[in-house]
Amino acid sequence: MQPITYERPETVEAAVRALGRPETLFVAGGTTVFDLMKVNVLKASHLVDVTRLRDPRLSAIEVSDTAIRLGALVRMADLAAHPGIRAICPLIPLSLDLGASEQIRNMARLGGNVLQRTRCAYFRDTSFEACNKRNPGSGCAALDGHNRQHAILGTSTACIAIYPGDFPQVLAAVDAQVEIAGRQGKPRTIPFTDLHRLPGETPDVETVLKRDELITGFLIPRGPWLRRSLYLKIRDRQSYAFALASAAVALDLAPDGTVREARVGLGGVATVPWRAREAEAALKGNALTEAIAHRAAEAAFAGAVTRSHNHYKIPLGKQTLVRALLGAAAMEV
Ligand SMILES: Cc1cc2nc3c(=O)[nH]c(=O)nc-3n(C[C@H](O)[C@H](O)[C@H](O)COP(=O)(O)OP(=O)(O)OC[C@H]3O[C@@H](n4cnc5c(N)ncnc54)[C@H](O)[C@@H]3O)c2cc1C
Ligand code: SF4
Repeated sequence: MQPITYERPETVEAAVRALGRPETLFVAGGTTVFDLMKVNVLKASHLVDVTRLRDPRLSAIEVSDTAIRLGALVRMADLAAHPGIRAICPLIPLSLDLGASEQIRNMARLGGNVLQRTRCAYFRDTSFEACNKRNPGSGCAALDGHNRQHAILGTSTACIAIYPGDFPQVLAAVDAQVEIAGRQGKPRTIPFTDLHRLPGETPDVETVLKRDELITGFLIPRGPWLRRSLYLKIRDRQSYAFALASAAVALDLAPDGTVREARVGLGGVATVPWRAREAEAALKGNALTEAIAHRAAEAAFAGAVTRSHNHYKIPLGKQTLVRALLGAAAMEV
């Protein structure tokens, strides 16, 4: 048995200071951390529980005329149930309601949610030696193994693991910023799309966060596209399953149906929360017809690279995006 120590700091400063110790991890809801510790994929000798930090903004949902701010310790379930957010940006609760289970959403916090780890079976099973993400330099068992669930966008020859979340695709689509507190100095803010790193040659380095940095919140600018927004998730079964393909779309349409602005995120197909800017460019300035939706989907998947079992994700991903776009265009707002 491995001894583990535990602390529950009350200030952000104390929390980030605690991460100075070796083999230390933040834990929020614990639904990723404890799962992976039980199977020896994550190893820690010290846990820093961040759920009792005293700063009330960490657990707050704040809405102003210009932005929505979400504290990193807000529970997934509380954000999903927030009536104001549902009215302003239906995409947010839709993505949360379709993720995990009610029990998990009651435990899990937004900061932990965006930092959840891949569901690649080879990553999560230590009896497989070859996994560059878990065991850098060891190879990738999925490349020629069972890769039906794996990514087709943003892959490398070192790793094709899917980024599994739902809500993070929304943050990528709607220009969210991430607020970060670190030990070394001032808090910093970065675009959410810069938080996760493509696997490249170092799939073990998943984000740009420094070891002792804590996510404190997310800031979403209130663009006119948020009202006409939806999240569509396609999976093997209708509940409690990860996406095979998903689309987060938000549209600002002129009265004649012309797309003034579009925001598109994709899930279930990419190695990181994916912003489909090529699709947005194909939509902008055009009337949102079925033909234009298909053109946007073609653009979104033009760079896809498939392996032996996941070619189906190209047509599935395109069709998911087309359905989401036409669904959003038909919304009454
Ligand atoms: C059976 C099952 C099914 C699931 N299905 C889905 C699904 O369909 N869709 C989906 O999106 N998710 C799904 N999930 C994943 C689930 O949503 C995540 O496990 C959960 O959101 C993680 O949040 P948490 O608070 O429990 O994180 P934790 O497990 O506490 O932490 C996760 C990671 O984030 C770090 N961390 C936590 N908070 C912070 C912070 N503020 N700053 C810096 N680092 C931090 C931790 O150190 C850890 O590395 C599923 C999980 C399970 C177990
Ligand atoms: S896809 Fe990535 S996580 Fe999965 S086995 Fe290969 S290196 Fe590991």
